Amino acid sequence: MLRIVVLGAAAGGGVPQWNCGCTICSKARRENSGLISTQASIAFSRDGANWFLVNASPDLRQQLIATPQLHPDAGKLRHSPIAGVILTNGEVDAVAGLLSMREGSPFSIYAHRRVLAILKSNSIFNVLGEKNVLRHPIEVDLPFEPDLPDGSASGIEVLPFEVPGKGAWYLEGTAHPAGADGAGDTLGLRIADKASGQYFYFIAACARVTDDLEGRIRNAPLVFFDGTVWRDDEMIVAGLGQKTGQSMGHLSMSGDHGAIESLAGLDIARKVFLHINNSNPAWLKGSDERRALERAGWEIPDDGTEIKL
Ligand SMILES: [Zn+2]
Repeated sequence: MLRIVVLGAAAGGGVPQWNCGCTICSKARRENSGLISTQASIAFSRDGANWFLVNASPDLRQQLIATPQLHPDAGKLRHSPIAGVILTNGEVDAVAGLLSMREGSPFSIYAHRRVLAILKSNSIFNVLGEKNVLRHPIEVDLPFEPDLPDGSASGIEVLPFEVPGKGAWYLEGTAHPAGADGAGDTLGLRIADKASGQYFYFIAACARVTDDLEGRIRNAPLVFFDGTVWRDDEMIVAGLGQKTGQSMGHLSMSGDHGAIESLAGLDIARKVFLHINNSNPAWLKGSDERRALERAGWEIPDDGTEIKL
């Protein structure tokens, strides 16, 4: 069996974002409602005892406090059930949480060499000493089985694959520490329980749905998918910035070639949006946008939602 816990579903900044007075952030702050969401990350486990994270958001410490499945075992002075962290990109909202995991517990980081190069070139990540924290390079289209802390096999197969996207925005206009070859900056993951064959997809950043991607996710039991913006220009229209979804490497939920339309005919049993920006009106329960996505079979998860496969 696979157990998956959604630690957070929001894009960079979370809901509310510290410096944002938009309708959604204001409402979340004012009413302390179910609108509050931390930045996107999931945890998954096959045995319920050892867990792996997909990405480590800046909200990780708060997420770990709120998630009983990830607490230290009772009676142990130092322990964490987190065996490893798999990184799908080098954005701040995917890697900054690693800095909260610096207290000497062993775990493994699995990331493409382009993301590992970013960690290596930023000396602050040296707080994760290589004696305790092993960094394993992963490759596009090469499945791997993450280890448990005792070195035994986890029984989980992870297949990383290339997804249309963009490199980390803070590197725009500067040399990438891994060079100019762009492949590997944005990964999707297929995560499977080897024994039961159950599997799901994690694709929290995606600029467009290609034929290749359609072929992979067709008939999947569960897909987590990029839900950054409802429409491409919503941040500009709301006066929040000059960036479109596409300029940030994210397709929109709605419209022609948006996520809802693109995944509509693929017979995916459960479709869950992740990495949702606080400008996205679908956050508001009962809004036209939220109702439209729910009618199309999608959901926006609350923090802490557990899904079993
Ligand atoms: Zn906002």
